[in-house]
Amino acid sequence: MTVDAHEASHSEYPNDLKWQELASCRGLDPALFYPEDNAGTWQAKKVCAACCVREECLEYALDHKESYGVRGGFSEGGRRKLLKLRRLAALERQAGSVALDPSPETNV
Ligand code: SF4
Repeated sequence: MTVDAHEASHSEYPNDLKWQELASCRGLDPALFYPEDNAGTWQAKKVCAACCVREECLEYALDHKESYGVRGGFSEGGRRKLLKLRRLAALERQAGSVALDPSPETNV
């Protein structure tokens, strides 16, 4: 997502994106969320930490595979790691449910 796209995503509010009206980053310089080097992400993450719609923002970014900038308190690298952890957790749950399934078919 570009800086302009970030600004647009926070200025147009379809009904399912009403949470963006409460975003702590509204009115801030969008460049803050797209630092040239990743070392500058702490300032954006500090804004996100106090944002009341951080969870909605993070899930939106994950659902839409937003690959640039800080969203929901996570940089793009952090979001990739989070998605990987969620996939691993889902696989573990799936494996656990198969191993613990008491149905006769799985115990033959
Ligand atoms: S979590 Fe961060 S990027 Fe998301 S809406 Fe809040 S301040 Fe903006």
